[in-house]
Amino acid sequence: MRVRIPSVPYLNRIRALKVRVRLAPSPTGTLHLGTARTALFNWLFAKKEGGTFLLRIEDTDLERSKEEYINNIYDGLRWLGINWDESPTIQSKRVNEHKQIIKTLINKGFAYKCYASEAELEEMRETQKKNGLAPKYDNRHRNLTPEQESEFIKLGREPVIRFKINDQKLISWNDLIRGKMTWSGKDLGGDMVIARRAPANSIGDPLYNLVVVADDSAMKISHVIRGEDHLANTAKQILLYEALDLTIPVFAHTPLILNSEGKKLSKRDGVTSISEFKKMGYTSEAMANYMTLLGWSVPEGINERFNITEVSEIFSFKKVNKASAKFDWDKLNWLNSQVIHEMSPETLLGNLDPLFKRNGWHLPSHEWGLNLVSLIGPSMVLINDGVDQAKPFFEEPELNNDGKKQLEIKEAPIILKFILEKLANTDAASFSQEKALDLINQASKSCEVKKGLVMKSLRAALFGTLNGPDLIQSWVLLSRFSKDRARISRLI
Ligand code: GLU
Repeated sequence: MRVRIPSVPYLNRIRALKVRVRLAPSPTGTLHLGTARTALFNWLFAKKEGGTFLLRIEDTDLERSKEEYINNIYDGLRWLGINWDESPTIQSKRVNEHKQIIKTLINKGFAYKCYASEAELEEMRETQKKNGLAPKYDNRHRNLTPEQESEFIKLGREPVIRFKINDQKLISWNDLIRGKMTWSGKDLGGDMVIARRAPANSIGDPLYNLVVVADDSAMKISHVIRGEDHLANTAKQILLYEALDLTIPVFAHTPLILNSEGKKLSKRDGVTSISEFKKMGYTSEAMANYMTLLGWSVPEGINERFNITEVSEIFSFKKVNKASAKFDWDKLNWLNSQVIHEMSPETLLGNLDPLFKRNGWHLPSHEWGLNLVSLIGPSMVLINDGVDQAKPFFEEPELNNDGKKQLEIKEAPIILKFILEKLANTDAASFSQEKALDLINQASKSCEVKKGLVMKSLRAALFGTLNGPDLIQSWVLLSRFSKDRARISRLI
């Protein structure tokens, strides 16, 4: 049989269909919730389409970019289970390519040097303001004559490089989330700066829109998925793609994340960085689950509690809302409690034991630890709640007001004395729930008080409070260190 070898154009088409997406964080801060959500949508889409998810570190702002932030971004993504393909592209290493592209744009007449000083530009904006106009560069140096240019150079002026934007041009694209988008060239602020000021015979630092187009193109990005705060940038970038005759990727702009007051979620809202959520005791699974819900609507028949691998099989931008998403702590807490409640005692102990050790708390045995987490797990919302709830098992508790009042009841010392005496004849290692219950019944009978009073007094004596998990089970755990005797005897 003859094998048909596909023609090259056919192969190119297949390659063109291959989904390649990227996250392009600037390492000027820790991994932000919004960036992580963008990462997640990119990752889900890549998984669904059998594509590739790439990372690009946009570190061209060398002063504000820090190695520690790059590591924080990597760690945060890994923690969330968002793994990337290939090694990350480091944007600052590509500066020569960026400058080369700027030269091409100048040579082809798409870009030019603008010598306007900061003071002149400020004056221009002031005049616009006075006349009720939006600030916009008036393209004053677009058509300088060679004589005018050499005059500016003689004056020692350092130019920026601007890319020409045609005011009459309408820029359109089919956004995967927002549908048909159209932007008018006149609303893009005039000819755009693509390189910072530098001596006239050189090219200054290339700027965001230019480098993003250069890099997305070099990385063969098929779909650019990012926050809706980049809509105007997309319009500008499309103009650059056209000028450079490069393939324009498909765009998808994800909705903003708002706080409870409907304002864009910012540092002022307290926790916004992924490492902070982790520190507070949120699980990676609940975070990834919740972030997916920040914009994506669950298709009918699918539970809101899911893991991202399941969603990656059904993810589509059709279910991503245009409307902004409101951050809802209650929902995140609910999801986190669900994740914790689903954990096996082994897993929960695996999460908590390092935190216990950090406090100098050591488990008397692994089994004891498993019993402890089984007891406290059902009321935990955050992993860190487990530390608070385990504390009275390791450290002497303080007596709170309710506990104090309980112990002031005149029968309380009599009950506790009775129990202490009985405990003296009991072997701590074999103390069991049956024995604990039996002791409570005996105390109730012998001291002629209700069982409830015995239990409350005992809880106050052992744990300093009237609230907490099952008393009998808690008592048995505590007895393992003979702490129950010590705590009762200090009170009588
Ligand atoms: N570095 C940009 C940011 O963090 C990337 C935007 C983009 O995805 O193009 O917002």
